[in-house]
Amino acid sequence: MPVPTADLDAGRRAHDLDAVASGHVPDLLVIGGGITGCGVALDAASRGLDVVLVEAHDLAFGTSRWSSKLVHGGLRYLAHGDVAVAWESAVERSRLMTVIAPHLIRPLPHVMPLDADPQQRALVRAGLRAADLLRAAAGTPRHVLPRPRTVSASDAGRLLPALERGGLMGATVHWDGQLVDDARLTIAVARTAAFYGARIITRASASAVTGSGARITPGDSSGFDLPARHVIVAAGVWTPELDAHTSLTTSRGSHVLLRPEALGHPRAALTVPVAGERGRYVFALPTLDGPVIAGITDEPTQGPIADVPLAPDTDVAWILAQLSTALARPLGPADVLGAYAGLRPLVGEPGAPNTADISRRHLVEHRPEGHVVVTGGKLTTYRRMAQDAVDALGACGGPSRTSRLPLVGARPGAAASGALPARLVQRYGSEAVRVAAYADVDPGLLEPVASGTPVLGVEVVHAMRCEGALDVDDVLERRTRLALIPADADRARGRVTEIAEASRW
Ligand SMILES: Cc1cc2nc3c(=O)[nH]c(=O)nc-3n(C[C@H](O)[C@H](O)[C@H](O)COP(=O)(O)OP(=O)(O)OC[C@H]3O[C@@H](n4cnc5c(N)ncnc54)[C@H](O)[C@@H]3O)c2cc1C
Repeated sequence: MPVPTADLDAGRRAHDLDAVASGHVPDLLVIGGGITGCGVALDAASRGLDVVLVEAHDLAFGTSRWSSKLVHGGLRYLAHGDVAVAWESAVERSRLMTVIAPHLIRPLPHVMPLDADPQQRALVRAGLRAADLLRAAAGTPRHVLPRPRTVSASDAGRLLPALERGGLMGATVHWDGQLVDDARLTIAVARTAAFYGARIITRASASAVTGSGARITPGDSSGFDLPARHVIVAAGVWTPELDAHTSLTTSRGSHVLLRPEALGHPRAALTVPVAGERGRYVFALPTLDGPVIAGITDEPTQGPIADVPLAPDTDVAWILAQLSTALARPLGPADVLGAYAGLRPLVGEPGAPNTADISRRHLVEHRPEGHVVVTGGKLTTYRRMAQDAVDALGACGGPSRTSRLPLVGARPGAAASGALPARLVQRYGSEAVRVAAYADVDPGLLEPVASGTPVLGVEVVHAMRCEGALDVDDVLERRTRLALIPADADRARGRVTEIAEASRW
């Protein structure tokens, strides 16, 4: 009996691909390796089902790597009166921050400037009180997410040195969860599913989907029909290409990455209401790696779905202009390090005039052909979406276990060694010891892969040996996220290639 392991690499992929191509009939075929599909694979495998997940490109190739990286408690859904979605977010945030992935999520203070308008101040305070009631009802302890409070203009300025103080009547500070990285959460979910026996096969796309299987076309071998007892489609914005019954509205959300010095090295996120739009905000989020992520646009899109959507200059200019309304010095192009965009799979009528108003609820539906489709929702609620999708298969393997199931790396206390680089603990949790140990044979692997970037050589080794990276682009784009800043990726590519090649077993 092989020892269960969460490690994904090229050898395991080849072995699993051989098994499924030669007649293995799984209980469940999952299509899509974003957060939703990986969540489904984990939910089903941990119930004891035999699971195969196929992903056309790489884990977190789609929307799941283009988010704002927030595990949020639904404040903006409350502002839209969507209490059910807000409650679900608050419950899932609590589970993620206390049990499932506390190592990947930190509490982040969010500062919202208050102006002279008493109505605005009352509304903001009432919203924060309601969100805090949800926090308490969802069971999130105060030490995980502190109480929201009002602070003076000078206290707000200490947290956000670039804030315009003229006319500032103080600010509110509230707390929410911030992921160290969204792709990292997705990969941790996939690896935990692999620990429970799921076969995770990247570079293999599905077509001709029915309730009893699909045609699988791997990038590196010939296609074959894969029969399965059940099929769940979790292909995000690509779902309508596989399932004719699904119609989604897609909207583009762009972000820019700003130099931290442009905002005076903020210690909190800045949230600014968008003028004239109820419940809509722009924000600037400091990250552990340094750059500040600012966003977000919400633009309806039509036509073919791009593999990698681009953030147009107009989106970048809109974000800079909106954020600048709260800053002492307006932001300009020289402050921008990079930009990215993602497409939201929204469950709503195609062609809706204002995509920001479409609910972020999820959809789980059984199709006449027999397969189940799960889409919509958000990163924060992936676990609940996955549970609902597996439940929709009927009595399959007993009740879901994932609400109490820590992801790989989440074992409490195991990384509490002062000798480890803080970066490794923040990104790998209890696996940090193991990641650091790659440097035992080559101490140079504890050096950054390029000047000016925080990514260490050991992270590249781990990506190739344990996190399912198959080539250098997987490492740059979805494991280390160096490619978010193109200049960093250019400088690091040579060293990353060298380490990745040497890391293949
Ligand atoms: C700009 C933006 C910001 C966001 N910010 C947040 C946030 O801060 N917090 C939050 O909770 N949520 C956020 N969201 C929402 C969240 O990111 C998405 O709801 C979530 O990532 C969707 O995941 P998914 O797995 O359903 O889709 P995807 O991540 O797109 O995964 C679908 C996968 O299916 C694969 N696939 C497609 N076709 C096939 C095929 N034929 N065969 C095999 N595989 C296939 C694709 O390659 C892809 O990897 C944000 C969304 C956007 C767009």
